[in-house]
Parts: sequence; C-alpha cells; structure tokens
Amino acid sequence: MDFSISPELESTLDIVETFVAEELHPLEDHVVHGHWDVIQSELDKRRDRVKELGLWTPHLDEQWGGMGLSLVEFGHVAEALGRSPLGHYAFNCQAPDAGNMEILTEYGTDWQKERFLEPLLDGDTRSCFAMTEPDNAGSNPTMLDTTARRDGDEFVINGRKWFTSGADGADFAIVMAVTDPDAEDRYSRASQIIVPADADGFELERNISVMGESGSGYLSHGEVTFDDCRVPAENLLGPAEGGFAIAQERLGPGRIHHCMRWIGICERAFDLMCRRANQREVYPGSPLGDRQMVQEKIADSRADIDAARLMTLQAAWQIDRKGTRAARVDISKIKYFVAGVLQDVLDRAIQIHGALGVTDDTPLAFWYRHERGARIYDGPDEVHKRVVAKKSLKERASD
Ligand SMILES: Cc1cc2nc3c(=O)[nH]c(=O)nc-3n(C[C@H](O)[C@H](O)[C@H](O)COP(=O)(O)OP(=O)(O)OC[C@H]3O[C@@H](n4cnc5c(N)ncnc54)[C@H](O)[C@@H]3O)c2cc1C
Repeated sequence: MDFSISPELESTLDIVETFVAEELHPLEDHVVHGHWDVIQSELDKRRDRVKELGLWTPHLDEQWGGMGLSLVEFGHVAEALGRSPLGHYAFNCQAPDAGNMEILTEYGTDWQKERFLEPLLDGDTRSCFAMTEPDNAGSNPTMLDTTARRDGDEFVINGRKWFTSGADGADFAIVMAVTDPDAEDRYSRASQIIVPADADGFELERNISVMGESGSGYLSHGEVTFDDCRVPAENLLGPAEGGFAIAQERLGPGRIHHCMRWIGICERAFDLMCRRANQREVYPGSPLGDRQMVQEKIADSRADIDAARLMTLQAAWQIDRKGTRAARVDISKIKYFVAGVLQDVLDRAIQIHGALGVTDDTPLAFWYRHERGARIYDGPDEVHKRVVAKKSLKERASD
C-alpha cells in the first residue's frame, strides 16, 4: 500500500488548509449558533474564491469540473476540509450533493444532466436524497412504503420520508420509491426518481428538531411528503428497479468522504484539547496537561485518530484498485470504527474544556450534537459490525 502524497497534492493541501483556517474559521461562529442564513452571502463569496483557485468540486473527474483525484487523494482533501463545519460546503463537495452529483454523472440522461446536474456542479442549486421513512426501519432499506406508480408518461408518487437532509431550499430530491412491489428479489423493487421541489404534491412538512435545533437551509433534516406527486417518466434515474444497486455504488466512496471528514473534525478537536490542556492552570503554574489523566485522553486520541486515518486510507486504496464491491468489508469496518473515534475524541475534548466545552464558544458542542448521528446514518454501527463479524466467522468456519 502506498499512501504517499505527490508534491502537487501536498501544495494543494497547503492551499486548502490555509483557506479553511483564514477564510472559513472566522465564519463558524454563526454556524454553531444555527444562523446559516446569515452567512450565505459571505459563503457565496468564499465559493467564488474556491473556483478561482481551481479547487471546486474536488471529488469529481476533470470532465465534470473536478480535480480528477483518486479516492485516496480526495480523502486527504476531505480531511483538510473537515477541520471546519463549512469546509465541504465551501468547496461544493458536501453530502448529500456530492453523492447526487456522482450518480447523476454516471446514470443521468442528457436532459437530466442539463436540468439537474449542471446547476448543482455550478453551485447554483442544492439537492437532497430521500430514502428513510419514519414508519420503517431504515437499517433495512428494502422496507419502503413509498410507491411510484406509472401512469402514462408520468410517475405518481405517494409516501412520507424523513431525515431528508438539506431538503429545505433544495432544488430537487432524489427519491427512492417502490416501482415493482411484486418483484421476488427485495433489492429489485425500488427505483430512484428525481422530484423537483416545486412539483405538485411534494411538501416539506418540517425541519426536524435534532438535539434542540431545527436548523435551516443546508443545515437541516426535513420530513417530506409525496401526495399524488406527479413527475414525468423521464425523471427516472438509471434503470427501473435499479435503485438499490445505484445506492450501493454511491455509499462506498461516500463513506470514505464521511470518514475523512470526521478525521478532520478529530484533528481540530485534538488541537483544541491540547491548547486548552497547555493553557488552563489547575494550580498556579500547573496546567491541565501536567495531569496524567488528561495526558491519557490526549494519548488515546492521538493513537485513535492515526489508526482511523490509516484504516480509511486503506479502504479508499482498495476501492481505487478493486472497486466498491471488493472493498465492502473494509468500508463497513471504517464506518463504525471512525464514527466511534469521532465520538470519543469529541467527548474527551469537551471534558478537557470543562464548562467551556458544552458552550457554543468553541465548535466542539456543535459537532457533538451534529455528529452523534454518524453512528446511525449510512448504516448504524450494528449493521456494519455484522458484515465484518460474518466475514471473519465464515473464513474460520472450517477451523
Ligand atoms: C443526521 C442524520 C442524517 C440523515 N440523512 C439522511 C438523508 O439525507 N437521507 C435519508 O434517506 N436518510 C437519512 N438519514 C437516515 C438514516 O439513514 C437512518 O436513520 C438509518 O438508516 C437508520 O435507520 P432508522 O433511523 O430507521 O433506525 P432503525 O432501522 O429503526 O434502527 C434503530 C437502531 O436499531 C439498531 N439496529 C438496527 N439494525 C440492527 C441489526 N441488524 N442488528 C442489531 N441492531 C440493529 C441500531 O442501533 C439502530 O440505530 C439520516 C440520519 C441521521 C441521523
């Protein structure tokens, strides 16, 4: 395995790190207080600057205006961007848009690319992905009640989704709906369909309050309904009943993106915990960092973050070489491992900050609230641990 960084990538990372520190950190105060709308115009200026620097949509191939990076290389960029809650958005590689861009480039028709993909690539629109339903266990995504019935040249969609992240203000949703309820294979029942936000029968019912915050715009999770919502049949994305196959493809690289972003968050939390441990005196002349129990938190965090990074880069390297399917177990392993590291490191950083840690005077509490979901979305820990355990048991079944 070779995770060495080319001189070109090294200088790109320098530029990204400087940009994040100088241009984005000063805006974070508004975000941690939930005032996304206040900084939208400032963020738009930063996004123009990212375009000028040639760092826009870094996850995509050059033909789509991206940087043509391998997944390992993009992983390093994602880590640098993860050091700010605004990093991925400023560079137009934020979830769920990044994944939606990828499936539109792969499966979109010419018309879909023109109508939905191009404005997304330009950063003029946002999108969302609506799969999870309040009345069904999202951990088993084949259990869906939302249907899309073909009626002439249209689909008629009925159902309710929630945790449709960023639905507020999105231009369109990619919706997972059952189009063939009788298919024997449960994974061949659903299709992905693009629903414009202004389609009749599509409604954003509410931004769900999460840990005391309903949020708005990009930083929100919507509950949406489809009530005899009609869209043209040409809005079908990819093959009919191919919804799960497409979702799987999207989730592989998507998990690398999330894990490397989480490692960026961990590094920022680590910087903050060390600074606080060096500066806060528990006795005159004796900083917190002199205490062994504080040192243990720092040492454990350092080792956890480094292990998480190596495991994630290894999974990215496998995907680069062999594709998502071959790297399935590695992807599951990092999903629960890195989400756990993230939670532990944030918790230790908060503890070392004392009361300051639970305030919004640092970004720690914001991340603690917003990233608890990391152990749930894109598959809860238990589902991924099952994949890893089953493989290990199978390999040793004849022992
Ligand atoms: C912050 C956040 C953002 C999200 N964004 C989106 C989005 O943009 N679009 C979208 O469609 N969805 C989104 N989701 C939804 C997410 O994908 C689901 O929450 C997830 O798939 C789990 O489904 P569930 O919530 O229905 O939990 P359930 O399926 O009801 O599971 C509940 C719990 O049961 C346990 N469990 C589940 N299965 C097993 C098992 N096999 N063995 C042992 N224990 C098990 C786990 O602890 C799990 O947390 C988001 C969720 C969060 C928290």
